[in-house]
Amino acid sequence: MNARILILGTTEIAFVCAEQLMRVGAGHLELAGSSVYDLHLLAERLEAAGAKHCTQVGVAERTFDAHDSEDLIRNFDVVVDAMVDWQLKLVASDACMRLTKPLVHVGGEGFRYQLYTMRPGRSACLRCVFPRIGIDDFPKAQDEDASFPPVASVLGSLQAIEAAKLASRFGASQGNELFKFDFLSGEMEMVTGLDAVSDCPDCGNRRR
Ligand SMILES: [Zn+2]
Repeated sequence: MNARILILGTTEIAFVCAEQLMRVGAGHLELAGSSVYDLHLLAERLEAAGAKHCTQVGVAERTFDAHDSEDLIRNFDVVVDAMVDWQLKLVASDACMRLTKPLVHVGGEGFRYQLYTMRPGRSACLRCVFPRIGIDDFPKAQDEDASFPPVASVLGSLQAIEAAKLASRFGASQGNELFKFDFLSGEMEMVTGLDAVSDCPDCGNRRR
């Protein structure tokens, strides 16, 4: 896989996703987040994990915010959203739509999460998707310490599968399906038909 993959966020989900991508032979991986300190800690953990699996890749640390989102994302083929901050998720969605880069999104808190692979040209942007799935009011940033590690492992691994598929152009990714998981009740739901919205300035313009 020669594709360049950018992982946004310094969460446990981001760590699991990065580690799994290293294990499947991702060629180029970079991490970006809002805290330089957290990025550094994450890079250190990945270095240790890589040594264990003999899968060392160059892991660069970059900051990500609303100002330089496009400058950063421009250099990548696939972007993974493992961030906590909902405003930054929208910033990532906007930039990926404008630059026609696929975005593998995970959002939620506690035991309830959603997974959505946004493919510009086919998919609705996150601004259009959130109201469709009943997220009108963005949850406050969650307490990372309160996350349940097995949940993060599942979600990070699912993101790694999606990112690896996009990076290697292997397998199928419809781009208009969202998966909702409630790990406590055991319910899973697939929301379909999340196509680009014709009158949306973000995803509508990218319709093919
Ligand atoms: Zn849209």
